[in-house]
Amino acid sequence: MEKLRTLRGFRDVFGEEIQKFNLIENVSRKYFNLFGFKEIEIPVLEKTELFVRSIGDTTDIVEKEMFTFVDLGGDSVTLRPEATAGMVRAYLQEGLYAKERISKVFTIGSMFRHERPQKGRYREFHQVDVESFGTDDPLIDAELLWMITLILKELNVAEYTVEINSVGCKECRESFRDELVSYFETKKDHLCEDCLRRLERNPLRIFDCKNSQCIDVTQSSPFLFDSLCEGCQTHFETFLKHLNDFNIVININKRLVRGLDYYSKTVFEITSGDLGAQKAFVAGGRYNNLVEEMGGPSTPAIGFAIGVERLALITSIDALSGKPSYFFAYVGEEAKNYLVPILRSFISEGLSFNYAYEGKSLKSQMRFADSLCADYVLILGDDEIAKGIIVMRDMRNKNQHELSLDPQGLAKAVLKLTL
Ligand code: ATP
Ligand code: MG
Repeated sequence: MEKLRTLRGFRDVFGEEIQKFNLIENVSRKYFNLFGFKEIEIPVLEKTELFVRSIGDTTDIVEKEMFTFVDLGGDSVTLRPEATAGMVRAYLQEGLYAKERISKVFTIGSMFRHERPQKGRYREFHQVDVESFGTDDPLIDAELLWMITLILKELNVAEYTVEINSVGCKECRESFRDELVSYFETKKDHLCEDCLRRLERNPLRIFDCKNSQCIDVTQSSPFLFDSLCEGCQTHFETFLKHLNDFNIVININKRLVRGLDYYSKTVFEITSGDLGAQKAFVAGGRYNNLVEEMGGPSTPAIGFAIGVERLALITSIDALSGKPSYFFAYVGEEAKNYLVPILRSFISEGLSFNYAYEGKSLKSQMRFADSLCADYVLILGDDEIAKGIIVMRDMRNKNQHELSLDPQGLAKAVLKLTL
């Protein structure tokens, strides 16, 4: 029979990688708490219309990356490709806008995009997603970046670049569009097929193309950044000032537009050279019109998402504050009688343990301990029982200690020696 395997681009996450995921999640949660963000869990599956309306129907995500299907009731539904659309829906549906002047929320979970799988790019991937509704003050734009840099610092991620830009408001974009279109019209021969379509429907999208020829064309193009209206310019300058107050080093990247339509003013990405082609591992920006476009009151907002798989690639496992692990190896029926009292003593001290279930030879139990990478093995056989001791072996340097065979006091004695 053919073995069943995961779908292309879907993966089992285990071992060191899931430890890093948990670490990223725990450190993120710690800072979200400190900064006053509250958790929301939103559905993985929503009406297709939610994503089409919010992300924009001329974006890569909506045009070609969504897992969309008709459910048994005949409705078109989609596995969420990102979290912001659902967070905005929740903000409106749960009436948060009426309850709190500013809503700071976050969610953590799987996203789904039908992309070509490669390193750092999967069809199911994880995001830590943060949104703040209710203020246009650029102080919060800077505060979010500060919060991200604190998370990265705690994860020992030092090599990264914070890239920022402003994509202006509707008015800036409206007046800039003609200038941009006339420039790209003269370069049509160098644009890929996708970008030729973008030129018709959504010319700013051309800046997000990954095709090297199209990137070349944008090198000498006019930039929206240079045509911002006075309001957007002031917003950006104040943002810069606050970034400086928080001591955050940034790089202005006028080509940065982001892959979704709903952004306005501030956009940013955090990239790392260590990631290769898929170099952005955090991305976000302001979206001052989306809540209103989704049928809510006019509400300025800003958010970002951390790509957990990509951040895990540059997070070192050393950042894990691993407590030692202990393995209990016992030989003979009498030794086994000590097992449960010893486990109870270990649990009451919060020590992590493991042991073999079926009595095997000491040699085979030591191999088992090795395969688990146990830091210490506690050995108990007839000789030790006769002497009233238990032997603790440090598996790194093979040093041995003899401890008194008193199950109740054992965990405390072990703690004293090993922590
Ligand atoms: P890219 O340009 O790499 O396709 P994007 O602009 O589509 O990224 P966003 O929609 O901004 O990505 O998502 C935010 C973050 O989520 C990205 O910076 C990245 O770290 C992560 N991400 C996006 N798509 C994937 C994917 N298919 N697999 C793994 N991580 C992803
Ligand atoms: Mg993408």
